Amino acid sequence: MDFTLTHEQESMRDSGRRLAEREIYPRMDSHPKHLPLPKEVLGDLLHKLAHLGLTGARLPAEAGGSGIGMLDYGIFFEQLPPIVALASMAHEGSTARLFADGNEEQRARLVPDFVSGKQIFCTGSTEPDTGSDPRGVRTRLRKQGDKLVLEGRKMWISNVTVCDAILVTCLDCRDGGSGKRVVKVVVERDRTPFHSAPIDTLGYRQGWFGEAVFDEVEVFAENVVESEREGTAILKASWSVNRPLFSLSAVHLAQRAYDLAVEYAGHRRQFGQPIAARQLVQKELSDIATAIATSRLICYQALSAVDAGTGTEGMAAMAKRYTQNACRDAIWKAMNLFGAMGLSADAKLEGMYRDVNMIAVGDGTNEILALIHGREITGIEALRGAPKGV
Ligand SMILES: Cc1cc2nc3c(=O)[nH]c(=O)nc-3n(C[C@H](O)[C@H](O)[C@H](O)COP(=O)(O)OP(=O)(O)OC[C@H]3O[C@@H](n4cnc5c(N)ncnc54)[C@H](O)[C@@H]3O)c2cc1C
Repeated sequence: MDFTLTHEQESMRDSGRRLAEREIYPRMDSHPKHLPLPKEVLGDLLHKLAHLGLTGARLPAEAGGSGIGMLDYGIFFEQLPPIVALASMAHEGSTARLFADGNEEQRARLVPDFVSGKQIFCTGSTEPDTGSDPRGVRTRLRKQGDKLVLEGRKMWISNVTVCDAILVTCLDCRDGGSGKRVVKVVVERDRTPFHSAPIDTLGYRQGWFGEAVFDEVEVFAENVVESEREGTAILKASWSVNRPLFSLSAVHLAQRAYDLAVEYAGHRRQFGQPIAARQLVQKELSDIATAIATSRLICYQALSAVDAGTGTEGMAAMAKRYTQNACRDAIWKAMNLFGAMGLSADAKLEGMYRDVNMIAVGDGTNEILALIHGREITGIEALRGAPKGV
């Protein structure tokens, strides 16, 4: 077991940091903190990520994939500001899912523009009445004369306000029935416009998070994604990678909060001394550093296991639940070390605390993650209730 980064991993980390510090954070700082950034910010970023081979991280080389390991991808990802990390994960993850599920024609026609960063992509599964239980989808794909139309509403979708296309999960009602089968359909905005709007949220306020309404929106038969290749390597990588990847944004936030807190504790004086000279303050800094180190390790471990072919949904769920909780507490402790200043927008810690809470819900709430992990430990399904006789 070697805990040192390889030369390639160091260069991934450094290029992620450079991108964040030189190009993304300055753009974020030049826009209002509570409003979504212009679409061009995400477009520019995706072009840069495409250049680095990171818009097709999970794709095979012949489809434009970079062949990068998931641990290396995570090390890069950790350096990005969370709003752009989430947006790029949603884009890349949606592309990987379309590639995994789509037929050859769909792969050839649709995937290249997402991999090149020319178009922004996202996935719409969640609905007003359907969240943790994806089987409850109500959006319907049905026939209207000789056309196909989509009806329904998707909520809490990353990138939806700026996307060029969305992969929508829906019930297949093309036979006139109530829809027993779930299919996916790609809606391309330039062919069939649909309404989307931002949702005002606690955190990620400069991000592109929102809802979409499909009010008899026409879709095309060639964009219905029917194949059910569940269990392919790409899909397994999608479940086991997204959670530790997303969690590394919590590590990013906690690391920034910690760096600020160490600096502040060194120069803020009370009772005649820097507060860093107090034992209780040192304990708080030690707790924060421990939370960051353990969180980073558990995420790296989950991603490294995916690279080794031993990653599981349980490991990924464990990494996300642990990291989000530990990093949220760490940021809170860092805020506390700033006293009243920690509550001010100027110190930026309150924004980090709001952002880290967003990570608790996306890609599985803490309760759902505990149940996914528990199922793997016990072999018993508790999400929907245990089977009879257990
Ligand atoms: C930052 C962010 C990004 C997101 N991006 C996307 C996206 O790109 N695409 C997309 O489709 N969706 C996205 N979502 C939506 C997200 O996937 C859902 O919000 C999430 O799955 C939870 O669903 P819900 O909000 O409807 O909560 P619900 O499922 O209604 O849960 C409400 C509460 O009940 C608990 N609960 C539910 N079932 C159980 C159970 N069996 N046992 C115990 N407790 C239970 C939950 O833990 C939670 O506390 C995103 C959300 C966020 C916050």
